[in-house]
Amino acid sequence: MTGAAQHTGTDVPADETGTPDGLDRLWTPHRMTYISGQDKPDEGYEKPSGCPFCLAPSRQGADSLVVARGKTVYVVLNLYPYNPGHLLVCPYRHVADYSELDAAETAELAAQTQTAMRVVRRVSSAHGFNIGMNQGGVAGAGIAAHLHQHVVPRWGGDANFMPVIGRTKVLPQLLTDTRDLLASAWT
Ligand SMILES: [Zn+2]
Repeated sequence: MTGAAQHTGTDVPADETGTPDGLDRLWTPHRMTYISGQDKPDEGYEKPSGCPFCLAPSRQGADSLVVARGKTVYVVLNLYPYNPGHLLVCPYRHVADYSELDAAETAELAAQTQTAMRVVRRVSSAHGFNIGMNQGGVAGAGIAAHLHQHVVPRWGGDANFMPVIGRTKVLPQLLTDTRDLLASAWT
């Protein structure tokens, strides 16, 4: 099947982080890499069952999309990326509103957002970024109960006819490959 693009997606479970957006995704690489497990984050706060952003840090092994683990926040690939390298910076704590973050979480979320930009720029030569949070379902947050900062790399010409006409995003790199690349480049 070398050279043939497939609509098979990834082996990542459907309850991983991200929000379906109605677009099909055309995954173009032909191999899947496997990822070693990582340490679990600190416990000790409420984690409602079924919240993918509470679940993601405890996920181990080949299907983890977590790129970096800080003290109060972690960074994970969006399962439904707008572009390759679309990252989400999330507090471990289950909070919905940006104003609910404490000082340490606020500072680390900002610092990890900066690191995300530096790492993505270094490994993929992104031309620009969209960065921000959707606060509340009315503002477009897919999983409004657990805040997450989007870091979306942009390249000139990345918004081409495919998402508009074909309702399909062309993603040249599997999520697991992207995760491996970014995690090893993280500082
Ligand atoms: Zn949560």
